[in-house]
Amino acid sequence: METSLIWIITAALIIAVFVPYYLKFRQRQKSDKERKKDAVARGVPLPRNQYPLIDASRCIGVGSCVDACPEGDVLGVVYGKATIINGNRCVGHGFCELVCPVGALKVGLGDIKTRDDIPILDENNQTNIKGLYIAGELAGFSLIRNAMVQGRKVIERIALDEYRSQDESLKDVIIVGCGPAGLSASLSAIRNRLSYLTIDQQDPGGTILQYPRRKLAMTQPVEIPLYGWLNEPEYSKEFLLELWDEVIKAFDVKIITDQRVGNVKKCDDIFEVVTQGDRYKARNVVLAMGRRGTPRKIGAPGEHLPKVMYQLIDAQSYNDVHILVVGGGDSAVEAAIGLAKQNGNVVSVSYRKNQFFRIKKKNDERVNEMIARKKIKTLFNSSVKEIREKLVLLQTEDGIIEIPNDYVFVFIGGIPPFESLKEMGIAFGGEVKEVVQGASP
Ligand SMILES: Cc1cc2nc3c(=O)[nH]c(=O)nc-3n(C[C@H](O)[C@H](O)[C@H](O)COP(=O)(O)OP(=O)(O)OC[C@H]3O[C@@H](n4cnc5c(N)ncnc54)[C@H](O)[C@@H]3O)c2cc1C
Repeated sequence: METSLIWIITAALIIAVFVPYYLKFRQRQKSDKERKKDAVARGVPLPRNQYPLIDASRCIGVGSCVDACPEGDVLGVVYGKATIINGNRCVGHGFCELVCPVGALKVGLGDIKTRDDIPILDENNQTNIKGLYIAGELAGFSLIRNAMVQGRKVIERIALDEYRSQDESLKDVIIVGCGPAGLSASLSAIRNRLSYLTIDQQDPGGTILQYPRRKLAMTQPVEIPLYGWLNEPEYSKEFLLELWDEVIKAFDVKIITDQRVGNVKKCDDIFEVVTQGDRYKARNVVLAMGRRGTPRKIGAPGEHLPKVMYQLIDAQSYNDVHILVVGGGDSAVEAAIGLAKQNGNVVSVSYRKNQFFRIKKKNDERVNEMIARKKIKTLFNSSVKEIREKLVLLQTEDGIIEIPNDYVFVFIGGIPPFESLKEMGIAFGGEVKEVVQGASP
């Protein structure tokens, strides 16, 4: 009797522990399988930065890596093995690697000899062109901390050369980009008494400017040169951007904004940095441009108006306005949905194709529901002819139409920086047999 009772209690305990676990496991497998299928169907491209490299022979499919990822959507478990669903969303926290109980996962760049988007760098982050350095995400590894450490290190390397330019028109170093890598490099240049200039195509802040409102960025302790340490495990986007402003003012960081660097040429040991409006000279150049590139433009008259934007940070700031979203991918659709949810907005989407392009299943369902409820109007097979203060002219199959407009959001992709870097003569992973990778701090 007593033995039976023990057996019954043991069996009940096993069921109580394992059944919920098994059900959760099955549910996850099912949803991950669907996510994977959806990603494959949409042709999600290969990751551009680091991503989880999975050793399937070791993986036991417990899924702790999936739970540990703060960005979501990167990993899933399919047929009992971890798999990449959308490696492009990996920002390199590396928590998946830390929690894997069998060491089946490593965050890295893969075989960089096969990659033509990873520049070849020596241990000081110097490219094959002497005096031309790369810092931050452009080197292949994300994270604010990595970018800041690399920004500081390349400048410390440059500062080892004790020569200082006395010529006002020839800087010791020009820094391209003012995200975490560029800011850290600029402050290090001040600390090391180098003459410098920082150039950015937008306001300072880099990718942080593009984070969703109130996003919490996770980071490990990192030193901001001259300022001190960031020791908290996470900071809000707003805090980081205020910090950027504060530091730039406090140390009088010299930044030229709204200038896109198109080319960097070297002649007689001097670099010429060419923007759309100017040319600057320096003995060294640090490219801290990130990997997101430059938003692609429509090329229509009126695109310069301040109401035309290439990112949507905060849909809630737009109410009772006429909005045109240009594009047909996930970013365009997500922006249109966010804007259409706000009070009183009239949202139209203009796209040159006859249907949305490879969008996520979830987005497809949500946008179709909004279209059915007349919250979003689609203008397929159309293109923007002209943008005016209060309206937009669209070329459609039925001729040119005018629609009232207060804001235009353009999501037609970006121009990655790699081609222009290759034109500068920088060697990339795919071009060499022996590679020295100095990207990690
Ligand atoms: C959604 C999202 C969430 C993230 N979350 C985290 C997180 O929680 N924790 C974390 O540590 N990291 C996170 N990251 C990654 C982190 O933001 C980046 O790794 C970091 O910003 C890289 O810094 P960077 O200075 O190398 O490049 P960027 O921040 O991309 O800055 C590059 C700068 O260069 C400028 N630039 C580019 N091309 C030119 C040009 N031709 N001429 C002039 N200027 C140019 C750009 O305008 C930009 O200001 C996240 C990224 C994303 C997208």
